[in-house]
Amino acid sequence: MEIKEHYSLKEHHTFKIPVQARYFAEARTADEILELSRHPAFRSQEKLVLGSGSNVFFTKNFEGLVIKIAIPGIEITKRQDGYAIIRAGAGVNWQELVDWSLQQNFAGLENLSMIPGTVGASPIQNIGAYGIELKDVCEGLEAMDLESGEIREFTAEECRFGYRNSIFKNELRGRYAILAVSLKVSDLSAPGVTYRPTASYGDLKTKLEAMDPKTLSPRLVSETVSEIRRTKLPNSTLLGNAGSFFKNPVLAEERAKQLIKEHPQVPWFKDSQGIKISAGWLIEQCGWKGKRVGNTGCYEKQALVIVNYGAATAKEILAFAYNVQSSVRETFGIELAPEVNII
Ligand SMILES: Cc1cc2nc3c(=O)[nH]c(=O)nc-3n(C[C@H](O)[C@H](O)[C@H](O)COP(=O)(O)OP(=O)(O)OC[C@H]3O[C@@H](n4cnc5c(N)ncnc54)[C@H](O)[C@@H]3O)c2cc1C
Repeated sequence: MEIKEHYSLKEHHTFKIPVQARYFAEARTADEILELSRHPAFRSQEKLVLGSGSNVFFTKNFEGLVIKIAIPGIEITKRQDGYAIIRAGAGVNWQELVDWSLQQNFAGLENLSMIPGTVGASPIQNIGAYGIELKDVCEGLEAMDLESGEIREFTAEECRFGYRNSIFKNELRGRYAILAVSLKVSDLSAPGVTYRPTASYGDLKTKLEAMDPKTLSPRLVSETVSEIRRTKLPNSTLLGNAGSFFKNPVLAEERAKQLIKEHPQVPWFKDSQGIKISAGWLIEQCGWKGKRVGNTGCYEKQALVIVNYGAATAKEILAFAYNVQSSVRETFGIELAPEVNII
């Protein structure tokens, strides 16, 4: 395994900020991760596990070791009673897994189509889109403790998934490298299993309701989700970004009711923890949608996405994000929390 020094990370994260890693290695197996974590040269070095870099915001050079996870492989580990368990290596591209599951005639991942990134990162923030979150399909995962080298299995419950959250963003932040994730999906080839799409969310609901229900299939839902996403989100290869910069704020019911009364147009969704308010809408109301300041700004079609027009520095983006956050606080009294991992 090659270990690179003073290595540019620009092509390893979608925000495209010119930063370097002191050391960088790509691990294709658990043994390679173990080798890196036990290597005397890196024992005391800070380590950062990286997937495709689509949810990170590097504010400076990383002075330790970046371990890019490239563990391949997708397999079916169980198939019974109308469902299947898929186990995928942490380095598998998420969309590749979605496409593979559609080819197998499985249902469950289609609403999560076109989310950039790797399988290994999907539990970190409990990826979600169009009414489905990873927690709805996750059976469990295997991860390596970067301190002891031990491999531990986590059940979905032990991952403590929440809205864009998990144990890996809290108590166990930075401690484990996820090696593989197991997902439970419906097996539409099994006798008696019919497809029940999740079509409760915004634009997807509208589009699917306009279709003949008999024609709905996971592939059609996947294509519809992809079509919607293409119209709303920037292509990271052309315009640097890390998706939603902020999370949708979740308000207590009383506070949310008051906001909805004052602003009946605000998009909101009920959540197990309260009422989720559209952060994109709040930002847009403050006049930031499509606004450019120097080399950064809010994307013209989705205010929640902060973009790098090419030459943005981390300092510029941080200052911009801070101003967005401040104006939402001043206008609505709501604190926006970052969704991206600020490093
Ligand atoms: C255009 C765009 C649209 C997006 N849309 C959505 C969306 O709809 N829904 C959504 O939830 N997210 C969305 N995201 C965010 C992003 O796609 C997800 O968070 C994705 O899971 C990140 O995967 P990654 O491999 O790029 O992770 P990275 O950015 O490389 O890493 C993210 C975090 O996970 C950690 N990590 C990565 N891999 C591992 C591993 N194997 N073991 C342990 N820790 C690890 C990293 O240390 C870091 O803290 C979007 C991003 C972009 C750019």
